[in-house]
Amino acid sequence: MIPFSPPRIDDAICNEVVAALKSGWITTGPRTKTFEKKISAYCGNKATLCLNSATAGLEIMLRWFGVKEGDEVILPAYTYSATANVIIHCGATPVFVDVKADDFTIDPVMIEKAITSKTKVIMPVDFAGYPCDYTAINALAEKYRHVFCPDGERQQQLGRIMILSDAAHSFGASVNDKKTGSLCDVSVFSFHAVKNLTTAEGGAVALNFEEPQFDNGAIYTELCVKTLHGQNKDALAKTQKGNWKYDIVEAGYKCNMTDLSAAIGLVELERYDSDTLIKRKHICDAYTRFLETDKRLELPVFEKGGVQSCYHLYPLRVKNISEQQRDAIMQEIFEQDVSVNVHFIPVPGMSFYKRLGYTINDYPVTYDNFSREITLPVFYDLTDEQIQTVVKAVRSALDKVLC
Ligand SMILES: *Cc1c(COP(=O)(O)O)cnc(C)c1O
Repeated sequence: MIPFSPPRIDDAICNEVVAALKSGWITTGPRTKTFEKKISAYCGNKATLCLNSATAGLEIMLRWFGVKEGDEVILPAYTYSATANVIIHCGATPVFVDVKADDFTIDPVMIEKAITSKTKVIMPVDFAGYPCDYTAINALAEKYRHVFCPDGERQQQLGRIMILSDAAHSFGASVNDKKTGSLCDVSVFSFHAVKNLTTAEGGAVALNFEEPQFDNGAIYTELCVKTLHGQNKDALAKTQKGNWKYDIVEAGYKCNMTDLSAAIGLVELERYDSDTLIKRKHICDAYTRFLETDKRLELPVFEKGGVQSCYHLYPLRVKNISEQQRDAIMQEIFEQDVSVNVHFIPVPGMSFYKRLGYTINDYPVTYDNFSREITLPVFYDLTDEQIQTVVKAVRSALDKVLC
């Protein structure tokens, strides 16, 4: 069976994790701090906080900005549920909007229609590792300054809608050579096991607020406290001689990254451009080369007008088919021992969100993308021979179901 996206666990990873274990420091410490600095240097953003997931990072930033009941947060209907769930956790209202047919990302035209005086945050999602249209999205935040109703210190200071990117897929992607993490106010990366760069579980908040209006270093410190019980000293600081006293300054959360995770991340980051991305591009290019002559298929975009994807997913679409036909094609591919997936089952169609009154019928492009989509396996250890097997499985499944 060809798996969908197993992590790359080799000696380099194992050795660094063992080194972290033997160092005697396994929770947040020197490796996490180094990893954070290296992420900022790589992405070109101003400060980075590593956490135990992207979900935690998204929620912390909503709470930091003071998002609460009565507020609205705009996000694409075509995303993973985590993007929406964190809005619910804060008591605010998710305002789903439709996506674009070409690259699957949130449609700025639809965002503009959804902006009201209650809009506090826009959460674009860099689907499959392809950055959203941040030029258009950042411009909307400026254009609607006059309708923004600030509540609290941070909202007053920013004076406009905050752009909080769900960059769970897009570490290493860029727009005009500017990396994700530096394209809007805040971007949150995921290092979950299936993501391009993994730490087993993990995430990072890339802060990029305008300076000197904002002090990103100070926000980083504030977030460290907020994500560790509201405690004014972390474990490492408390180990210093006589430095045992601490205070709790707020009822904080607990979602820090461990140094064991950071150990994996440091190895992954070191070889990300020179090895990981090259391999992922090779795989995606090969799929495109072998499938582009098939008129039944619509292939994903990875590069266009200065936008550069990081090849997180290969979201294939089949032209003119129903959701049932898509499911049948996937079943046929599985029969040939190839694992495929669907990204994503749209959030408004999930039971919980249906109960809140949302319906997928309001997002026709999202539904159309979803109903015809099949994600092919992309992972570091996928061989050229396995790529051939996947391509053959797709072709024969299409022949069988669409005869
Ligand atoms: C994976 C994913 C997340 C959640 O990431 P975690 O690190 O698992 O919390 C959020 N949004 C999208 C689009 C994702 O694919």
